Amino acid sequence: MSSASSAVTPTSLIRTEIQALHAYHVPPSTGFIKLDAMENPYLLPQTLRDEIARMVADAAINRYPDAGAHELKAHIRSVTNLPSGMDVLLGNGSDEIIQVLAMAVAKPGAVLLSVEPSFVMYKMIAAFTGMRYVGVPLTQDFSLDLQATLDAIKREQPALVFLAYPNNPTGNLFDAEAVKRIIEASPGLVVVDEAYYAFASDSFIPQLAHYDNLLVMRTFSKLGMAGLRLGFLAGSTAWLAQLEKLRLPYNVGVLPQLVASKLLQHHDILLAQAASIKQERTRLMSGLSAITGVKAYPSEANFILFRVAKATQIFEGLKQRGVLIKNLNGGHPALTDCLRVTVGTPEEGARFITALQDSINQLA
Ligand code: PMP
Repeated sequence: MSSASSAVTPTSLIRTEIQALHAYHVPPSTGFIKLDAMENPYLLPQTLRDEIARMVADAAINRYPDAGAHELKAHIRSVTNLPSGMDVLLGNGSDEIIQVLAMAVAKPGAVLLSVEPSFVMYKMIAAFTGMRYVGVPLTQDFSLDLQATLDAIKREQPALVFLAYPNNPTGNLFDAEAVKRIIEASPGLVVVDEAYYAFASDSFIPQLAHYDNLLVMRTFSKLGMAGLRLGFLAGSTAWLAQLEKLRLPYNVGVLPQLVASKLLQHHDILLAQAASIKQERTRLMSGLSAITGVKAYPSEANFILFRVAKATQIFEGLKQRGVLIKNLNGGHPALTDCLRVTVGTPEEGARFITALQDSINQLA
């Protein structure tokens, strides 16, 4: 078929910065002990699962969802303790909210600034939206380099700053005073990304009342709802009213709204699961620290970053033994020989530690 458009190809049409990207890679995980994606390993109590099954059976999936997700938002507000005057915007996962924020401020030349290593989607979404990305290196122990960050903010005048609190993939919680200095020095919005809030000892939600340019983003993915895809952004209604215009009208479906509303009415169950995960994190940390040649980094999240010689071979050794974790070796210079393991059940943790020790022994 010949037409005026017959010469068009992906390489001639697609933006060069998109062609240069690698798609976010999700490896197959069937049959593995899955400790690669920070999921909650626990199922819900059977009675609650039965109740959800009945609700799903009766759900009006022939209808569009409530575009304002009023009921779900009310449940989120009730479990989140927002300061007065603050509200929430919902996303299909918090990934989508990062994109909404970037789309909103992506004037020509606008900068999105974060620290490195951190969550890779900040940089990817900067590319999606035509923003210029600036990554300020963390120090060797993965704390904020406050002076370097303040210098970069002064130099680059970022429209948007993302700080993951706790940070992924390093697991640590940045110094709160340093984060405040960054918020105060920023000419644009600062988003504190609290994806791992359920496992952390601090939050910036109370600070929303003190800083006009602060927004706090959370997700329910790590709290047992990864499959529902639900994140939210908390902040003043003045900011949210603008951002709402970019949210696609039905971004949170009927079933996620229904099921998440139900689960948030049983928030205590989810928090108890998070408490078990924190206990297991302590056990896993001792297990890792007891292995010669392994350096584990402190974590306030539901995963632990560790360094071990020949990390890629160790990662493969773990896979051969049926355990899937995340290989970060080669991804960023600061993460050479680094692997990241999600905190699962005590049984999964024990299987992982044995497989790790065996893989190390085999290479010795
Ligand atoms: N922020 C951080 C720091 C993350 O680690 C993740 C997930 N890995 C997300 C946001 C996105 O989570 P979701 O889209 O599942 O809400």
